[in-house]
Amino acid sequence: MKNTLDKALAECRKFTSEGTVASYIPELQKARYDALGICIMTENEILAVGDCDEKFTMQSVVKPMILLLALMDNGLEKVRDLVGVEATGKPFDTFNYSDRALTGAHINPMVNAGAIALLTLINGDSYAEKFDRLLSLTRTLADNPSLEVDEAVYLSESQTGSKNRALAYMLKAYGMISCEVEEVVDIYFRACSIKVDCRDLARIALVLSRKGRDPKTDKQLFPAEFAGCVNAILSICGMYDGSGEFALNVGIPAKSGVGGGIMAVVPSRMGIGTYSPALDKKGNSRAGVKALELLSRELNLSIF
Ligand code: GLU
Repeated sequence: MKNTLDKALAECRKFTSEGTVASYIPELQKARYDALGICIMTENEILAVGDCDEKFTMQSVVKPMILLLALMDNGLEKVRDLVGVEATGKPFDTFNYSDRALTGAHINPMVNAGAIALLTLINGDSYAEKFDRLLSLTRTLADNPSLEVDEAVYLSESQTGSKNRALAYMLKAYGMISCEVEEVVDIYFRACSIKVDCRDLARIALVLSRKGRDPKTDKQLFPAEFAGCVNAILSICGMYDGSGEFALNVGIPAKSGVGGGIMAVVPSRMGIGTYSPALDKKGNSRAGVKALELLSRELNLSIF
């Protein structure tokens, strides 16, 4: 496996030149465009190559955590009542919305509007408490108690987040959320700004691949059925409107974020975390996707 990982690193770094680092959140633009890190984690080994020590913000990779906590706190029915599970076929920051009313059927948990709506299904007396619970779950799954928010990215995102505020106001206008818009978008921005590395993502994916069982202690960290929900939804819409191609070419549940991270779940086998901030037109890490394609081919990872 180590040889395959070395090969992926050697062959895929060149694809960084085909992508562009996200700039609509100004702070993200500071990333080194040709970075590439890949980490594979199984029950018995951790293999990391390239820029695995580089830190980046989760961005949309936090959406599966939001979905998971909403499921744990309120169950599948409530989650389903609020947001749909169908691919929108549209970018992450739009609604699939052409009727005269917005409903859960127009969004899913992996687009911004769906994630913002699901934050309201996380238990907590205040939005600060909801966020603390989300951070704490993420730390547990990553087995990394030191995970924190990148304050500079959070501020940058908050200062330029008009589109996400607009999405939240639309949710409120159509009765899908009833809270203060500023409060919910604030924790959305904080959640997106949690700073991780490839190992953290690989470890979260490993827990999802084991249906919620902790790789070290074997303790069930969340109900197995919810891992099934998250993995199913990731395989349908985890890679933005590139999810179909990704299913064909890689064939595993995965979530990408505009910070350049991808968390990929190989059921019953391993978790993979990749980082490379130059993105393709759909918002997926260009070299990260290429590396996953190679790994999938050579290690026979596709579940299809
Ligand atoms: N914080 C980003 C936004 O809402 C997340 C987008 C993403 O990674 O897809 O614009």
